[in-house]
Amino acid sequence: MQKKNLAVNENEEEQNFLQESFSSLVAEIKSNGIDTNFACVLPGSLQRKLAVELGKSLLCESKTGEDNCESCKAWVGESHPDLIIIGSPDKPPGIKECMSLWEEISLFPVAANRRVAFLLGCDKLSLPAANSLLKLTEETPGDGLVALLMEEEKMLPTLKSRLHIFRFKLPLLKSSTDIPKNKDQFLKWLRSTSNMSTGEVALVLSGWVSTLVDEGRFDKAADIEMARVLSEKYNMSKEMLEDLIYMVLWEGYDFELLSGVLW
Ligand SMILES: [Zn+2]
Repeated sequence: MQKKNLAVNENEEEQNFLQESFSSLVAEIKSNGIDTNFACVLPGSLQRKLAVELGKSLLCESKTGEDNCESCKAWVGESHPDLIIIGSPDKPPGIKECMSLWEEISLFPVAANRRVAFLLGCDKLSLPAANSLLKLTEETPGDGLVALLMEEEKMLPTLKSRLHIFRFKLPLLKSSTDIPKNKDQFLKWLRSTSNMSTGEVALVLSGWVSTLVDEGRFDKAADIEMARVLSEKYNMSKEMLEDLIYMVLWEGYDFELLSGVLW
């Protein structure tokens, strides 16, 4: 418990950074004029938040999301009769939900001028579910809009070619972007990742890789990149990934040997 208290300030700082990155992502999407279907790569923990935030302006008459139009008045907490959110970061919508989306979006809007749908966890979509979205994303009924949110940029190429893709930029978390120099710092880093998902930790590691490349430490960069890729390929838990990183940093882990066995 005491450990947790010590980390409160750090976490607060991280939350602020996360919020900043989130706001700039929202601003970027808005400034691109979000009137066509799109995909967005961002941490799972922020997917629902993004859907609500963008839903507000997408459904609003003046696109601000904060005038007093019929649509803005129709919000109850985080739900709106013309906003469809299906799936979750860990459990994407299945084939049935995807297939019924066409109908859902075609329904006459209740309060807004259109209906918009956000699909969460789309990096984990099954192939049939992803296929069923091809037609919908190409010819969305009425004034409807479809947005696919995903933690990792994994999409059918045919789907990808139809969508503009926005990406959450790595939050500049002081304590998590600095590469630990000793085991104490590593423990501190572990604490700073306690609320992150595996995908978020992988994002941080991508940042480490660029730093190491900038510093000319190519071997370490390659090893960390390898750990990150393996964790995605084998769907590792965050703990497993962090163990691998520990080994890379302090035990001179032989990745060439490991990857030879795994591939
Ligand atoms: Zn409004």
